[in-house]
Amino acid sequence: MSTNSRLLDFVAAMTRLVERQGLDEAAVLAEVDSRMRELVAVDDWLPVEMTRSDPKHYQQHLLYGDPLDRFSVVSFVWGPGQGTPIHNHTVWGAIGMLRGAECGQRYRVQGSELVEDGEEATLQPGQVELVSPTIGDIHRVRNASRDSSAISIHVYGGNIGRIARHVFDASGGTRPFVSGYSNTLAPNLWNSK
Ligand code: FE
Repeated sequence: MSTNSRLLDFVAAMTRLVERQGLDEAAVLAEVDSRMRELVAVDDWLPVEMTRSDPKHYQQHLLYGDPLDRFSVVSFVWGPGQGTPIHNHTVWGAIGMLRGAECGQRYRVQGSELVEDGEEATLQPGQVELVSPTIGDIHRVRNASRDSSAISIHVYGGNIGRIARHVFDASGGTRPFVSGYSNTLAPNLWNSK
């Protein structure tokens, strides 16, 4: 598996960030946003194994999991027309568009109902979107294309594959959800510099 140092630089920056004490969430998200923009500004680093789509399910390839579960980095690969159910995260997160485009619809809970929060937005390569329980944590994401695959890079403030969270139906009903990961092997970052 080949890669270059962009992912390692990003992981190092995230590690330094989660080690800093006393930062509020806004400061954390500002740094995550800036580093994610750098990471997805150039599309020359994602190992081909982490770009693979699946005809049935969108793929969540773990790129790096912090050994202390403070953050995780995932390559989301959408096959043509694939998308998520409405879901939350429970931790901060950033989505950086790397290849193709995806559409995101945000939701918020109003009383006992789930309502759309703004218009569906399209994320283009190089753009970044943020989520968190503070700034809005519920959304649905789909590949903007019915003909080709799309890839976005996600970072979360926890081990997202293992976090107990929820999917929502249109009426606001919830069911428990643990996403897991599509792969079982992470890339060897220590060989890339
Ligand atoms: Fe999400």
